[in-house]
Amino acid sequence: MLTTDTPRPLAPAPTVRFRWLDTLWLQVTGTLCNIACQHCFISCGPKADQVPMMTLAACEEALAEGTRLGMREVYFTGGEPFLHPEIQALVDRALALAPLTIITNGLLLDDARVEWLAERFRTARYSLDLRVSLDGMTAAQNDPVRGRGTFERVVSCLRRLGAAGLSPVVTVVEHETGLEGNAARQAFLEFVRGLGIRQPRVKFLPLLRLGREVRRTHGYEPEEAWGAHALAASVESSLLCASSRIVTAQGVFTCPILIEKPDARLGDSVGQATRDISLKWDACRTCVLDGLRCNT
Ligand code: SF4
Ligand code: SF4
Repeated sequence: MLTTDTPRPLAPAPTVRFRWLDTLWLQVTGTLCNIACQHCFISCGPKADQVPMMTLAACEEALAEGTRLGMREVYFTGGEPFLHPEIQALVDRALALAPLTIITNGLLLDDARVEWLAERFRTARYSLDLRVSLDGMTAAQNDPVRGRGTFERVVSCLRRLGAAGLSPVVTVVEHETGLEGNAARQAFLEFVRGLGIRQPRVKFLPLLRLGREVRRTHGYEPEEAWGAHALAASVESSLLCASSRIVTAQGVFTCPILIEKPDARLGDSVGQATRDISLKWDACRTCVLDGLRCNT
């Protein structure tokens, strides 16, 4: 008899059943970013316009549809969300409807913006969370992938957030040996605590071999193909694509990882996109086999 955790053969690509809309992601700035990380899986940067910025009206429409469909939380991502000229209005619209997480590189969080965020943190109807990217505990570890000088600037941002009473999640991409395993996690937690973050949280993310990362190292290798019994039901239900969708200026896609894959576009509206999908993309291996989950 099959139990819920009985592995099933993958033939040829497993299906993920869409459960319900838990999380609605908005690609608010498309691929526009103020830096151009060497490992960025959607090749964002200051001149990257392959996915345009969303308008305030388009974001409002997506949030309204998400609310009708019962969404429980919202994520803003990009690119860099704080490059959106109407980011404050966007944050307020989202926080009136659901808990919000903003994924940011932190470089635009100056004193005034941190003060504004802290005020929202204290007074908004729903909770506000920040995720700040930092890919090493030294400049020598972080800057080769994120750009010269970014380590010092992100560390300053984290100190500023900590001083304002905010405790962002620090995300770390495992871009080099030594950044995986419990010892690295523990060391990173202590490092973040030492910056004045009272409740340090660190999220390690396996590398996605897409976008600019393909040039830095390599793409997915054919020999890394799925094993014959890779997708247990418990894994399937925990995948981001089982309970979330991402809205972009170019339509609604399976997940934040695949917004540059035309065949991952599921429709013009969230309603059209809340259906079962096949895991036919190479990057799905990173979610299934390496345990990547984009949500916090
Ligand atoms: S990884 Fe993040 S911060 Fe770096 S270029 Fe991509 S979107 Fe920008
Ligand atoms: S990349 Fe991950 S989240 Fe996206 S469709 Fe594949 S398994 Fe789902």
